[in-house]
Amino acid sequence: MGMTIKEFVAQEKVALSQEVGSLKRAPHLVIIQANDNPASHAYVRGKIKDCDEVGALATLCLLPPDTSEEYLLEKVAEYNNDPEVDGLIVQLPLPDHISEAKVKLAVNPAKDVDGFHPLTKFIPCTPKGIVDYLTAEGFAFQGKNAVVLGRSEIVGKPMAKLLLSKNCNVTVLHSKTTEEDKAFYIAHADLIVVAIGRLGFLDNRFQYKKDAVIVDVGINRNEEGKLRGDAIPDLPVAIQTPVPGGVGLLTRLALVKNLILAAKTR
Ligand code: NAD
Repeated sequence: MGMTIKEFVAQEKVALSQEVGSLKRAPHLVIIQANDNPASHAYVRGKIKDCDEVGALATLCLLPPDTSEEYLLEKVAEYNNDPEVDGLIVQLPLPDHISEAKVKLAVNPAKDVDGFHPLTKFIPCTPKGIVDYLTAEGFAFQGKNAVVLGRSEIVGKPMAKLLLSKNCNVTVLHSKTTEEDKAFYIAHADLIVVAIGRLGFLDNRFQYKKDAVIVDVGINRNEEGKLRGDAIPDLPVAIQTPVPGGVGLLTRLALVKNLILAAKTR
């Protein structure tokens, strides 16, 4: 495993721009954002930049946070029916008065490049990005003990499902798992995907297999306001993905791949 994630993503983007260049028309992503959240603004900027870099189109539909649920659903329907739009995502979080579940169900599954609809054909971006990276780096999934920390709908659960489909032995740990059980499963894990949103949760109080791989999904701010993961740096394992410059980039790459797939299969 020689490449950094930045290098891997740069290399993949070159291949993706060639693929986009060979299509009849550029894939088109629409992002609906109905919040004024600084982190969301940064994520959306990143997604638009990624589309630009591979030659895809990105349109931002920015709505004020007091937008009604009805109006947001109308916009979703409009883009669902627009033949010029291949991928449609609604940036989270949504304001409290808008039902996230309803919005997720409203997106046309054929355009649901976030992979949130129950009938979607797309793999959610964070798990897809992680598995694509591990695959490229030669990680042999079959029969490996994989531990997923966290059971959210967008990361933990789809991650566990995807690793199961790669024939890993998957254990999902969560907020109700005892510390003793966490220590047991972590000590036996070949792959640990941590997605709990707790700064430096994985630290030296746990034992790790020395050839284990730790994939750090967490995004937290430390006391100095810097972005840091759910694991402290330099744990005694074979590979540990950094934060920043790790899973966030892989997630963005997977979104572009899903968009291209959407454009090719419509
Ligand atoms: P979430 O915040 O919805 O839920 C947290 C999960 O962690 C829950 O399932 C809970 O059971 C579990 N949990 C909480 N405390 C725990 C503990 N002490 N021990 C074990 N499990 C515990 O989860 P999410 O939306 O998947 O986000 C998790 C983290 O990943 C956040 O920091 C988020 O910002 C980050 N994230 C990063 C990306 C990326 O692309 N890098 C994408 C999505 C989320």
